Amino acid sequence: MRVLFLGTSAAEALPGIFCNCMHCKRAIEAGGKNLRLRSSVLLNGELLIDLSPDFGCFRVKYGLDVSRLRAVLITHTHQDHLSPQILSYNSLSFTEKALPLKFFMSPYAAQALKQARYERKDFWKHIEVIEVKPYKQYRFDGYYITPVEASHNQPQSLLYLIEHGESRLFYATDTGAVLPRAEEFLAGKRLDIVCLDATSGKNHGKPTRHLGFMDIIEVKERFLKMGCCDEDTLFLATHFTHFTGMLHEEIEQYFKPYGIKPAYDGLAVEK
Ligand SMILES: [Zn+2]
Ligand SMILES: [Zn+2]
Ligand SMILES: [Zn+2]
Repeated sequence: MRVLFLGTSAAEALPGIFCNCMHCKRAIEAGGKNLRLRSSVLLNGELLIDLSPDFGCFRVKYGLDVSRLRAVLITHTHQDHLSPQILSYNSLSFTEKALPLKFFMSPYAAQALKQARYERKDFWKHIEVIEVKPYKQYRFDGYYITPVEASHNQPQSLLYLIEHGESRLFYATDTGAVLPRAEEFLAGKRLDIVCLDATSGKNHGKPTRHLGFMDIIEVKERFLKMGCCDEDTLFLATHFTHFTGMLHEEIEQYFKPYGIKPAYDGLAVEK
């Protein structure tokens, strides 16, 4: 599975859209991997996780072939992960041929999608919404998709286990503690790529909101014990904020002894 990190920031982006703090200024000065847009990943060029408010920028920045896009998995309704208004542009008023898209999302997120205000509404003709339940497996072409409960301050927030061919990806942002039920579900399943929420930086995260760097290290240790990863598993941190106050290189150094890598916008990994 090829995972392209389109964006790796928390809600406010990095630099924060309206922030001029010393950390944001330092990120701007250093440039490159320190500049982050809102979190989203693209799998094999065809499956998108989260509809970020930056999706239009992603298309330009990475030269995405949107005609290959077939499905979107939504983690939760915080606006850095679900920006419904973008769908207005998948209508015949704005495109030559609207894309048929399948959305996998919680009933709560489906409701949010229905209730949003749109400039055009004919995109509904082109999309299909699949309301998902945690721990139930959904088959979509060559993919097996299982939503996993998150511990986050938005109802019905989900993480995803995605299996394709021999590869397994566990995409886990936004979440605080990995819940006991989630661990029970994951135990013994060998994961090839694990992406974890890094919002709280060097501090421990709040268990019902986000993870911090120390929590990520602990999750990795637990996953090793549970038999769901080994030294070949790629462990990546994502969803960074300016409050972390660290440059990408410094975060890399911090995680190095633990075999964990910070993701950055444009990072592509394959497993
Ligand atoms: Zn977020
Ligand atoms: Zn800032
Ligand atoms: Zn969130």
